Amino acid sequence: MTPSETVTPRVASRLSTGGLAVTRHLLVHGPATRGHLSDLLRVSPASMSRLARSLVEDGIVAENTEPDSGVGRPRQILSVVPGARHVVGCKLTATRAYGVACDMLGDVKATTEAALPGPSADGVVPVAATVRVLGQVVSRLGRKVPSLDGIGVSLGGVITDRAVVREGTFLGWRDVDLAAPLRQRTGLPVVVTNDVTALAREQLWFGAGRTHATFGIITVGAGLGFGVVREGVVVEQLIDNGHLLAHAPVDSRGPRCGLGHVGCVAAYLNREDIERRAAAPFADVLRRAAAGDRAAAAHVRGAARALGHLAATFAGALQSTRVVLAGEDIAAVAESPAMAEAVAERLRPGPSETQRCSLDITVAPLSFSDWAQGAAVAGIQAVLGAA
Ligand SMILES: [Zn+2]
Repeated sequence: MTPSETVTPRVASRLSTGGLAVTRHLLVHGPATRGHLSDLLRVSPASMSRLARSLVEDGIVAENTEPDSGVGRPRQILSVVPGARHVVGCKLTATRAYGVACDMLGDVKATTEAALPGPSADGVVPVAATVRVLGQVVSRLGRKVPSLDGIGVSLGGVITDRAVVREGTFLGWRDVDLAAPLRQRTGLPVVVTNDVTALAREQLWFGAGRTHATFGIITVGAGLGFGVVREGVVVEQLIDNGHLLAHAPVDSRGPRCGLGHVGCVAAYLNREDIERRAAAPFADVLRRAAAGDRAAAAHVRGAARALGHLAATFAGALQSTRVVLAGEDIAAVAESPAMAEAVAERLRPGPSETQRCSLDITVAPLSFSDWAQGAAVAGIQAVLGAA
């Protein structure tokens, strides 16, 4: 490592279970009084005082007296100190690393990006050279914030033990331990997360999770991705990498997907499948559709309809009304009325049914730095000791 890449490690202590519960509540729901927190977390006022004091000593939490309202005793309000921790989040694509430095609240304080080394003849992006690039990204970001406490890296594929890339779809990686060499290089704790799982972690604390304990995430871009949060817990690894949902049947007279299924979700919605059928890049399909080309418009409408069916199936299986849609291609697809029409059609009750349901589906188009922010939040949760 060259001196310019060296970052000063500050391995912050993980929080106690009680300290983490308080911090998490303050991060997700904002400032609160000691009394409110002790009721909510079912701890005695004396224990709550000890927890608060310890968090204040660690610099994680600040305690301020509420301005005197003139009624009753002034109350002590606890709030998180945003700058108490800083974490780098890094999203890897096939060709680039997108990095952000975030504070405790997941707010982006600095961004950078760098090209990854090209793949070798066997299609594998060299691991050691990638770690070098990540080290440079971390040290660049480290110079823009007071200090760094950890690193979260996210990428498409199957990750185990929050460290090993079992299947790195876009990098040609198999069984690559990414966390160990990066930790060695930077001296900082590292967690590696599937990119959609990282987004689910970000949404759990700072998005849909504020109102729903169970929700689903669908990403549409280079491939279809799924994130699941059940009863406040992120499902770290899907049983099927999303295969069952991505290849659910939509229309038995539809086109075939790359795997040969007739009229499955992927056949309509997967970018590669659309490009193959339209014999044009996806951006061109969108441009032509906007210009009134009927064939191109049919591709977009078909994708939107499949997405509506997918969201409805996902919501039904999860038993949650809340679905978040994200990804580079999502805005263009979700704005077609065909998506909402498909959802409405699926929800239409029979004549004697009394139970009505509506879904809360929101669209959050994601830039690569938004993906990196998800990785940073996964890193913050790991640094604080959250599951
Ligand atoms: Zn299929």
